[in-house]
Amino acid sequence: DAVVISGTKLAKAIRTDIAEKVVDYNKKHFNSEQLRFKPSLTIIQVGNRPDSSAYVRAKLKAAESSNIVSNLLKFEADINEETLLEEIDRLNKDPKVNGLLIQLPLPKHINETLVTNSVATEKDVDGFDRYNVGELSKRGGNPMFKPCTPNGCMELIKQSGISLRGKRAVVIGRSDIVGTPVAAMLRNEDCTVTVCHRHTQDLPVIVLEADIVVAAVGMAEYVKADWIKPGAIVIDVGINYKQDSTAKSGRKLVGDVDYEEVAKKAGFITPVPGGVGPMTVAMLCSNVYDSAVLQAKKAHEHAFKPLPLELKDPVPSD
Ligand code: NAD
Repeated sequence: DAVVISGTKLAKAIRTDIAEKVVDYNKKHFNSEQLRFKPSLTIIQVGNRPDSSAYVRAKLKAAESSNIVSNLLKFEADINEETLLEEIDRLNKDPKVNGLLIQLPLPKHINETLVTNSVATEKDVDGFDRYNVGELSKRGGNPMFKPCTPNGCMELIKQSGISLRGKRAVVIGRSDIVGTPVAAMLRNEDCTVTVCHRHTQDLPVIVLEADIVVAAVGMAEYVKADWIKPGAIVIDVGINYKQDSTAKSGRKLVGDVDYEEVAKKAGFITPVPGGVGPMTVAMLCSNVYDSAVLQAKKAHEHAFKPLPLELKDPVPSD
């Protein structure tokens, strides 16, 4: 049976580590036990989708346990795009805001690409602005922040201890937030990557070749055991609800992978819940910490920047 890679456990270790790094930063830079430096995260939520509210709650809670200050700004679903962009601009300029995240999806009348691109790159802890996406898509790129869910998947894969170089990876799903970036990250780890999507033919045959499978489809228990190469690493990103009369709520949370059966064949598997979900949030906290350190460093450099030398005969600029 597969080794279960626990995202819950790993995520907790990452959050504890961040909380400790915040304390150490204060000791080192302020010689203080008090947290004068505390990374901050601002989340913008538009509307009241219950799934979005649940994700936002999880993010706020994880931030708190990582010594990160968090703020939720909620707007009505009918907010106009211009007002939202102005709000983002204000937060981009606010030095008290380190990380800025727009909870997706946004209502239909708002252009999501425009909005995610308007977050300042150094605050883009979701990794969705065009700079971070562009850098990630290069072979030797250097994004300031990597997107949280794909980054979480990579950390889970690394838990297997298996060297990724030269391995066959199959990503099922090609969304901008999961499939496409996780494929870029696997390629950068020297995997040979195939990206599958709704038009892919012979999906089971392709998946059967994979040493690593990342399922990000959004269909309950879609990936079956007979698609899986024995010993493969299976990462299940899906969050789906299935009717279940034995559950109090009448429904059960399941992934994109037929867990019970696939676990008998895979070498490693992530559960749902308790796999990619908590890792996504932990990677967000890690990005917020990095954003705060970067911004503190920049502010420090700015404060101590020597004045430019005044030239007697300034060279004319062309
Ligand atoms: P999406 O709907 O944007 O993309 C789904 C992808 O699956 C598309 O690229 C589509 O072409 C592909 N697809 C659809 N049907 C297919 C089929 N029959 N065969 C092969 N490919 C098919 O979804 P998303 O935002 O990428 O999310 C995917 C899943 O991951 C969802 O269940 C979502 O809730 C979940 N998710 C989880 C987290 C987390 O933190 N755990 C984060 C983001 C998304």
